Amino acid sequence: MPRDNDCASFSRCLLRWYQEHRRELPWREHITPYKTLIAEIMLQQTRVEAVIPLFREFIQAFPTITDLAAATEEQVLSLWQGLGYYSRARRLHQTARIIAEEHGGKIPQSRQVLLNLPGIGAYTAAAIRSIAFGCRETAVDGNLLRIGSRVFLVQDSIQKSSVRQSIAAAFDKLIPSEQAGDFNQALMDLGSSLCIPRNPRCGQCPVRVFCRAYQESTPGTLPNRGRVNRPKQVTVSVMLIQTQEALLMRQRHSGTFLQGMWELPWFEGSLTVDAADQTTAAEGAANDEQQWLQNAAFPILPHQIWTTDYMFTHRHWTIHVFHYEMEQPFRVTNRFPQRHYRWQPQDQLSALALPTVFKKILQQR
Ligand code: SF4
Repeated sequence: MPRDNDCASFSRCLLRWYQEHRRELPWREHITPYKTLIAEIMLQQTRVEAVIPLFREFIQAFPTITDLAAATEEQVLSLWQGLGYYSRARRLHQTARIIAEEHGGKIPQSRQVLLNLPGIGAYTAAAIRSIAFGCRETAVDGNLLRIGSRVFLVQDSIQKSSVRQSIAAAFDKLIPSEQAGDFNQALMDLGSSLCIPRNPRCGQCPVRVFCRAYQESTPGTLPNRGRVNRPKQVTVSVMLIQTQEALLMRQRHSGTFLQGMWELPWFEGSLTVDAADQTTAAEGAANDEQQWLQNAAFPILPHQIWTTDYMFTHRHWTIHVFHYEMEQPFRVTNRFPQRHYRWQPQDQLSALALPTVFKKILQQR
């Protein structure tokens, strides 16, 4: 843990470096609570480079929280395409509506009120409070835990909440009462440019004289992440069923993975194609919905079959794509409570908010 007389020097060195090396980012130009809120939600689990262009488009479409509150969910999801994790967009939209209705369109400063809003956890609340309102509060995420485990030479696993709390407490001593937002943003930049996961660039680091791992150990071996969970392997079959004019799409309702998004129909497991009797069958007994789709689409053989894969954060999909070209669309049913099917005109596909995995499959056809 830092000695008291090191604290002021640590933040001075860090802030001086930040002044010269800070990343120019659109949400750092004319900082407002609204822009900070949008950026922090977008940056949850998405890289800065991917966020920059979408942030600009989003702010252009919804310049204020009341504009966002007044938008439809479809409009919000459509502008969220490319960022993934669409539940964030839905929660942000709910938050905007609550702020517009209950807080007069002003982003609240209170930690407790922020934490009660959908999609805002401890890190995001601290980032908003420090960056937009100047509150002295450390925003603790994976970046900060990595830097902290090195600066304070913490060799215990950061999976333990006691370890995370002690790193946060140590940073709480370092954060200055002035420029708390800059301090947090400086740590974010340090974590993305110098104190990176592998091979940290300690030679250029502004706080190396305070860093115990640099002085006494091997920084690249920290943090200790404990046991890492491997992504779950899942095999899925995707039905790409189209006519010349339209593509069969479905929307998943709430309470399911990728809820609310439009997608190509897919099922867990493998399908097999029997060329002899010209049918496609699901392995094991199909559920009602799968059975309906089989009966409707499978009298013909797929035009093409290929295999691809896609990595989500916690699951890895091996995807068998069954591509059907039909003369005429068949009648869709909407008797399945969790699904809504429709034939979407080919030239209006961009109007639907599609998860990246399905966009990639459509690009491959
Ligand atoms: S000296 Fe190296 S390990 Fe320590 S904070 Fe700087 S970059 Fe990270």
